[in-house]
Amino acid sequence: MSAPRLYVSADMEGTAAIASWTQVEPSNATEYPYYRRLMSLEVRAAIDGAREAGVGDVLVNDSHYHMRNVLWDELPADVRMIYGNRKPFSMAQGIDGAFDAAFFTGYHAAIGTRDGVLDHTYTDETLYAVRVNGKPCSEAMLNAGVLGVAGVPVVLITGDRATIEQTQREMPWITGVVVKESIGRFAVNSLSPEAARLAIRAGAKRAIERLTEAKPYVFESPVSLELDFAHTHNADFAELIPGFERTGGRTVRFVHDDYLTVFRAFNAAFRLGAAANAPV
Ligand SMILES: [Zn+2]
Repeated sequence: MSAPRLYVSADMEGTAAIASWTQVEPSNATEYPYYRRLMSLEVRAAIDGAREAGVGDVLVNDSHYHMRNVLWDELPADVRMIYGNRKPFSMAQGIDGAFDAAFFTGYHAAIGTRDGVLDHTYTDETLYAVRVNGKPCSEAMLNAGVLGVAGVPVVLITGDRATIEQTQREMPWITGVVVKESIGRFAVNSLSPEAARLAIRAGAKRAIERLTEAKPYVFESPVSLELDFAHTHNADFAELIPGFERTGGRTVRFVHDDYLTVFRAFNAAFRLGAAANAPV
C-alpha cells in the first residue's frame, strides 16, 4: 500500500491557551501574531505525528476567519496549503477521494454549547443554530459531511473537551486530543502550548494507526438543512435564495438529495443572511 494521504482542516479557536476573540482576530496587532504561531505549531505537531505513522502527502486547508493564518515557515517544506477565503467549500475546500484520512485541528464547539470556549457555528453573530436532518450540527459535523461524500473519514480532532466529546458522540472512531477545559465561553484551563503539541503529535500518530476503524461521516438523502438565524432580518435575506423555504420567523429550510449542494447552499445562506446585518 502506498503512503496514506492526509487532509488537514485547521481552525484556530481550539488551540491551547486561546480563550478570547482578541487572540484569534487578525486585526489584533498585539495578541493575534503570537497565537497564530501557536496555531501553526499545533498543525505542525499533527503532521509530524501523522508522518511518524507513515503518512505521505499532506494538504492543509487554512480554515479560520480570513483563512490566512498558518505560518508557512512552521510547516514541512513539502506540505501544500490552501490559503485565503471565498472558497465554495470553505473549511472543507480541496477534499477529494484521493485522500485517505482527515484531521480537524484547533476546532471549537457548536454554537449554544455550554462550557465550549468561543462556541459558534461559522458565525457567532448571524447563526443561532444549524440542523441537518433535524440534528444540531457543529462545524466539525458539517465539514465531516463534505469529506464523507468523498469517502474520507475524519480520524483526529483537537480542541477543548466540549468539542471533542460533541464530535465523538457522532464519530466514535475519532481520536480526540483535549488541549484545554473550557470555563464558560471566555476562559479555559489549558495545557501549556508545548504539552499540547506533544499530546497532538502522539494523538495524530495513534489516529493514523487506527485508520482502519474509521468511517466516512454521511448524511442520509434527502438532506434537510435548517438554519435558525439570530434575527428575522437574516432570515429575510436568506429566504431570497431560490429553493429556500421560510419555516419560521428566524428559520429557513433547504432540502436536496446531494449534501455537497446543501453545504454550498449553507455557505451562500449564512453569508447572505450576514449581509443583512449591515446598518440600514
Ligand atoms: Zn475559527
